[in-house]
Amino acid sequence: MTKRDYYEILGVTRNASEEEIKKTYRRLAMKHHPDRNANDKVSEEKFKQIKEAYEVLSDSRRRAAYDQFGHAGVEGTGGFGGGASGMNFTDIFGDIFGDIFGGGRGGSGPQRGSDLYYTLEITLEDAVFGKTAEITIPTLAACVECHGSGARPGTSPVTCSNCSGYGQIRMQQGFFSVQQTCPTCYGKGRVVQTPCLNCHGRGRTKQNKKLSVKIPQGVDTGDRIRLSGEGESGESGAMSGDLYIQIQVQPHPLFERDGKNLYCEVPISFIIAALGGELEVPALHGRVKLKIPPETQTSKVFRIKGMGVPSVRGGDQGDLMCRVQIETPVNLTAKQKDLLTQFEKTISVNNKHNPKSSSWFDKVKKFFEDMKL
Ligand SMILES: [Zn+2]
Ligand SMILES: [Zn+2]
Repeated sequence: MTKRDYYEILGVTRNASEEEIKKTYRRLAMKHHPDRNANDKVSEEKFKQIKEAYEVLSDSRRRAAYDQFGHAGVEGTGGFGGGASGMNFTDIFGDIFGDIFGGGRGGSGPQRGSDLYYTLEITLEDAVFGKTAEITIPTLAACVECHGSGARPGTSPVTCSNCSGYGQIRMQQGFFSVQQTCPTCYGKGRVVQTPCLNCHGRGRTKQNKKLSVKIPQGVDTGDRIRLSGEGESGESGAMSGDLYIQIQVQPHPLFERDGKNLYCEVPISFIIAALGGELEVPALHGRVKLKIPPETQTSKVFRIKGMGVPSVRGGDQGDLMCRVQIETPVNLTAKQKDLLTQFEKTISVNNKHNPKSSSWFDKVKKFFEDMKL
């Protein structure tokens, strides 16, 4: 096979400057680039020749060898940088124009579905014991008729003829070539010729999706459960997004939660507080007995071990903290008032019965003494 002259291929004179060769090469490479001439064998062959000619003529040592010995001077000379056989067109194109256009082909293809967020309100009991919740989420899901392809059943999407399936095309704008998302297929590379009647070719329809979600023991407000792939379906059968379940625990009439511990207010009479006793307090697991020792002061917190919330990440279960509140009796009868008055007389003879009051009065006395100075 006789090879054409490299200068002739590029259409430049033997005295052409480096700059002239480069400019000519760019113009020709754009014209014959396979991205713009899909399935055109003549252009493909021309592009190969142009590239080969440029590789030799743009290298001063190889150009000198070619000028002196012709093709024989530059063939089989691996030491000079080798041929182009191992490279594909996109790489070469990217090497030369990448600095101007910021790289080769951009990501094309259909978009992954969006992530969805769902707030699930649960009771404190469900948060403590865990449950399986049935939820319904409105979402874009794969069309049941075409299974997401967008093509009417019995037909299939075809390769986009505008971009040859790349999803991207190069547009000539003066000297520059600009890469754009293909306007025919919107970057998908494939087009639906006979659209599915159910989804109008979109591949997705608005649907209410029913899901059953396992809520683990011990979750709290703000915890998120991720259900991989349960978000919106992708376009044209692309990957689905994820579904995030945001936990919101409802307030409870009896218990307040702080991390693993539950807090509960327990009212007790001042008689029980003084004499001691035993009472039943509620826990999420059922009733538990709470021993009140004699001489218990108000706001004292009693800890019942292991009656709190289990840890989501394993570890010890929390505790139930009972804060007692001493209650002042109301609606007293004349007799009860009389009894209390008699009782008061017995304990006010000295101050050993009211430890808090005694120390408080001492502090008040000192406060006023200090003020006089
Ligand atoms: Zn459909
Ligand atoms: Zn296209």
